[in-house]
Amino acid sequence: MLTGRCECGTVKFEVSKVRNAVTACHCSQCRRLSGHIWATTVAQLGDLRFLSDKTLKWYRSSSKAKRGFCNTCGANLFWQLNDNDEISIAAGSLDDTSGLSLTKHIFVKDKGQYYDIEKGTPQFEAF
Ligand SMILES: [Zn+2]
Ligand SMILES: [Zn+2]
Repeated sequence: MLTGRCECGTVKFEVSKVRNAVTACHCSQCRRLSGHIWATTVAQLGDLRFLSDKTLKWYRSSSKAKRGFCNTCGANLFWQLNDNDEISIAAGSLDDTSGLSLTKHIFVKDKGQYYDIEKGTPQFEAF
């Protein structure tokens, strides 16, 4: 069982299984919300259980998806497509990331101009 939390600890969760592959998103929305790029793993919604979620708020970020964040500390924690049984979880919110590795970069056409992406990891123009 993996555990994770927001920075202030008011949103806490456990998840029985996550994808080992982490995706870094360079889209403008992730950059604005996170301050840089946003890296996530994915879990089945049924494998995720909240231990504490009273400050978890959902932001309707587009007509297709919503994002979950802590309204006390502002941590960006989740992204979920409408009516989908998978949920993206911020890799940075997990307490133990030893089994995870960054395997791809997406929306690189929208990336900031102030950094380069390391060579060797696959890059995709969009999703
Ligand atoms: Zn918090
Ligand atoms: Zn993004």
